[in-house]
Amino acid sequence: MRQNAKLAASKTATRLRPAAHAKPIVVIGSSNTDMIIRVDRIPRPGETLLGGEFLTAAGGKGANQAVGAARAGGKVTFIARVGRDGLGEDAVAGLQRDGINVEWVVRDPAAASGVALIFVAKSGENSIAVAGGANAKLSPADVRDAAAAISSAALLVAQLETPLPTVRAAAALAAKAGIPVILNPAPAQPLPDPLLKFVSILTPNETEAEVLTGIKVNDPARAAHAAANLRARGVRTVIITLGSRGAYLADVHGQQVVPGFKVKAVDTTAAGDVFNGALAVALAEGKVLPAAVRFANAAAALSVTRRGAQPSAPTRAHIERFLATATPSRSSIRRAR
Ligand code: ADP
Repeated sequence: MRQNAKLAASKTATRLRPAAHAKPIVVIGSSNTDMIIRVDRIPRPGETLLGGEFLTAAGGKGANQAVGAARAGGKVTFIARVGRDGLGEDAVAGLQRDGINVEWVVRDPAAASGVALIFVAKSGENSIAVAGGANAKLSPADVRDAAAAISSAALLVAQLETPLPTVRAAAALAAKAGIPVILNPAPAQPLPDPLLKFVSILTPNETEAEVLTGIKVNDPARAAHAAANLRARGVRTVIITLGSRGAYLADVHGQQVVPGFKVKAVDTTAAGDVFNGALAVALAEGKVLPAAVRFANAAAALSVTRRGAQPSAPTRAHIERFLATATPSRSSIRRAR
């Protein structure tokens, strides 16, 4: 017990706080509450299954990425919509506990907060229904209200769980102000070229890269092909995340696989979200891209060793301790020019 208390105290003491004067990372996106029931098996239509175990967890790609960035040491502002209900209040309170500025999280008077209802079976199989609620009402007008925050940001981070016109309005505003835009194109959907033109860094996983380009990404040559396709459509830098193998990086300087880290994976939920949050922090601190991707790989690898979405996001101290001792899953980084 005493040792645990000491460990907890030292964790608090070593947790890095961003400099007050640092420009914030602005994350725009969804906030959901995941309501999870663990069951022996997924119930069939019309069936009632007794004996499940219930838990709730804060989620939503936007909120996950905001939390991922804040824990990784970033100063974060979040733009989102929640309902005027208990779930929305709890979600906002959780973000505040992570030190996130929630000034631009609007309480929608007419929509419920976003909810995901999830069955998880003993086999690991799951079944999920999402009611986006207030997330679906995040609007270009909300973006205009937060224009001052976006145009004074270090970076803008967005995903696709909120309406596309809103994502586009935010990306356009940032790009016009010279603020780099990281777009995580998840969940997978095709994107119009006028939106891609505002994107500095696009971060699809292999499935999303395939939906965006029609190219199945299953080896480095095909990753190169998909990245070239996206770069030709206006994206400056493409980072395709490759699960445990790390990430494929293609920019004006060339291409390389930045290897992932070998860990014992127990739950890969939100690995991509933690990756994007940590990537934004490293870039806001001025790290060059390969080093920023290595930092993001480390944060995401740590997140897969723990269960849940936001609960799995590691702190800066934890990422740094891990980077000091961990070895990449492959020994060398090759750069092709
Ligand atoms: P998503 O979670 O969006 O589907 P990926 O599966 O590509 O995306 O994972 C995102 C990142 O998380 C990877 O680039 C890698 O850094 C890390 N990651 C994912 N799975 C593992 C794993 N099993 N071991 C180590 N790192 C992982």
